[in-house]
Amino acid sequence: MTLIKNRYVTTRAQVKKSKQLALCTQCGDIQYKGFWYASDSQLALMINEDKDSVSYSLCPACQMQNKGSCAGLVHVKYVPKNMLSSVLAIMQKAVEQDSLENPQHRVLEVSVANDGYTLKTTSSSMAKNIGRKILDACEMCEAKSIYRKEPESLYVTDIVFSIPGYFSQALQK
Ligand SMILES: [Zn+2]
Repeated sequence: MTLIKNRYVTTRAQVKKSKQLALCTQCGDIQYKGFWYASDSQLALMINEDKDSVSYSLCPACQMQNKGSCAGLVHVKYVPKNMLSSVLAIMQKAVEQDSLENPQHRVLEVSVANDGYTLKTTSSSMAKNIGRKILDACEMCEAKSIYRKEPESLYVTDIVFSIPGYFSQALQK
């Protein structure tokens, strides 16, 4: 699977003799010229460890995961039973699209409570996107978002459906 969005970077990488890269020791994501690429991207195949300068460290997403922190929270509450599968599909699609564009955008955890779901994400824009997509697709919900700076920057969005009582716990993995 090719996850490289910026073709220009790919071409430049092929031409240039020596690349400066950072590789995550936990997930294998690669940072090159300010962009992140997945470990199975085309860029990974073009690393020449003899020529290129590769540094090894933990990527921001893995650091967040290890610390148990996150940059975005999405609460989706009181989803009517008959809309549950489509809402979950919207969420999944939003997550997949975002991760494809940037492998550092990840969902770290999905938890289920009796009023809904909570998603922890490594990126505030990912949380924003998920909320926006649900809001655009469903008429009967409202969103409330806050951006907190302390103690760590965190974007929180609450998507609340207006018909309570129909929530189903059935989260299929
Ligand atoms: Zn990583």
